[in-house]
Amino acid sequence: MKKIRIGIVGYGNLGKSTEAGIRQNPDMELVGVFTRRNPNSIHLLTEGVKAYHIEDAANMTDQIDVMVLCGGSMSDLPEQGPEFAGMFNTVDGYDTHAKIPEYFDAVDKKAKSSKKIGIISGGWDPGMFSLNRLYAEAILPEGKNYTFWGKGVSQGHSDAIRRVEGVRNAKQYTIPVEEAMERVRKGETPEFTTREKHLRECFVVAEAGADLQKIEHEIKSMPNYFADYDTIVHFITEEELERDHQGIPHGGFVFQSGKTGFHNESSHIIEYSLKLDSNPDFTANVLLAYARAAYRLNQEGQTGARSVFDIAPAYLSIKSGEELRRTLL
Ligand code: NDP
Repeated sequence: MKKIRIGIVGYGNLGKSTEAGIRQNPDMELVGVFTRRNPNSIHLLTEGVKAYHIEDAANMTDQIDVMVLCGGSMSDLPEQGPEFAGMFNTVDGYDTHAKIPEYFDAVDKKAKSSKKIGIISGGWDPGMFSLNRLYAEAILPEGKNYTFWGKGVSQGHSDAIRRVEGVRNAKQYTIPVEEAMERVRKGETPEFTTREKHLRECFVVAEAGADLQKIEHEIKSMPNYFADYDTIVHFITEEELERDHQGIPHGGFVFQSGKTGFHNESSHIIEYSLKLDSNPDFTANVLLAYARAAYRLNQEGQTGARSVFDIAPAYLSIKSGEELRRTLL
């Protein structure tokens, strides 16, 4: 079997997880990693594969079937997404929710001109959560949808705490409120305030001699980030942070609570949940399933941008259509 030749652009958390994920997909092989840093400073784990400077990618269009774009959503992907879609089939986890429509258009234009496929915003949210919301709302149109996130690390909120004067380091967890989820599971359809759905728990390493009360107050009253939540602040040592908070766990729940029947007499609850030890590992594995889809769609002659909504599930699976039909049971 000819393998799908994968390239990785950007070697951060997601890039490293993508490298690891390729090993679980026997129809794929890693060709190279492309970075803006000195490639000699990047040490890959895959034997016989090397890192290249990102500018070398343009000379390797005939060696790579799909580029998995692992740059950051804030400033890398808005440039790298359209640029690479102009040369390769691509897949990415772009997660700046408000800007997805304009990002789609930019990738679409380039992917059409290069006759490639660019799959945007894979991953889990956006990605698997978006898909599950779509399925749930299509099936139970008379209903209400709820998404809860966590328990998981929020990079943006951790960064915001680090910017508070007197803070040396910090990690912030978003935690769903269990009682709120139980109400949804029981079939109630409440309107929750922000505070009723999620808690924010912060582990903070302060500078020596810093005013801890002032730091705590500043965190808890920070507009947009913490002011609308019940926030718990723990002060810990750098060693404790290193020992107990190194992972990047995440996850969450998508619920649809709906009614059916002529008089809405039947209730239904759909619950999809993720408990992820490693956010980047899981995200990378989703992107790789969509890399397979990008390759197949392009082999069929399709071009342009796609989101997870546009791709039939069979394209994600390593199994053939015939094998999959046998699993319908
Ligand atoms: P990182 O910050 O780890 O990496 C982003 C980029 O920064 C890398 O591609 C790399 O580019 C550069 N970089 C990484 N480490 C270093 C370093 N030590 N020194 C200098 N530069 C470095 O981000 P993540 O991999 O954690 O996440 C990437 C994106 O994935 C996020 O922005 C997020 O938007 C998205 N994501 C989406 C999810 C979803 O569900 N849709 C879920 C999780 C993440 P280079 O090699 O070129 O230097």
